[in-house]
Amino acid sequence: MNDSGGAQYIGLFGGTFDPVHQGHLALAGHVLERCRLDTLLFIPAPAPPHKRLPGASFSHRAAMLEAALTDCPDRQRVQLSLIEQELPAPSYTINTVEALSKRYGRQRFFLIIGADSLLDLPHWHRTAELLALVSLIIVKRDAVDVPIIDHALGALAPSFALDQRQGLWVGTGGVTAQYLADVQLPVSSSTIREELGHGRVPAMLPPAVLAYIKQHHLYGWELSP
Ligand code: ATP
Repeated sequence: MNDSGGAQYIGLFGGTFDPVHQGHLALAGHVLERCRLDTLLFIPAPAPPHKRLPGASFSHRAAMLEAALTDCPDRQRVQLSLIEQELPAPSYTINTVEALSKRYGRQRFFLIIGADSLLDLPHWHRTAELLALVSLIIVKRDAVDVPIIDHALGALAPSFALDQRQGLWVGTGGVTAQYLADVQLPVSSSTIREELGHGRVPAMLPPAVLAYIKQHHLYGWELSP
């Protein structure tokens, strides 16, 4: 979708992807459809600031994403971006968005986050500057519901206020926040790592990713294929 100035709508989906799972892929497909984005970038973090050290190296996590996206039905509009590899550690989202702004020019950026990450947003690096550059697309996760989202968005600095008529929250300088409550994907990378560590095949793992994990004996996977 283009705005009146011809800017493209680019979704930024950052994460550890340790490993990428069907929840990430379904979320991307849902957001692409609902928010009419032109492109969605999966952006793995080499050194995520708010998490313990990943279970797999950056190159393995990027390779698993590459494998998963090859089979993805939205392949035309989904891309893997390794931009955070070129940036200093830790992988702060504001640095990524500033680097992408230079690379893509004046496009409109939408930061895609699970509701759990929204609650953590005040602790991110240079949050105010980040919220001047991106609109938010928040996807339901766990028991987080609309009143919690509304409170979290209202408490951000700068804050977002609900526009009932448009059904979204409006921030300063034209940025918005949308909440997609109609999709719930009860899966996480941590439960997948745990299952793999016990030699079980997790249901929500894309087949190409499972094959890669077995081939490289990641996450304690010891059984022969
Ligand atoms: P972990 O279990 O290791 O914490 P994760 O499953 O949360 O990992 P990440 O790579 O850390 O995966 O997530 C990247 C982004 O995707 C975050 O914004 C997170 O909130 C969101 N996300 C991941 N899984 C889901 C899900 N099942 N539903 C909604 N959002 C999700």
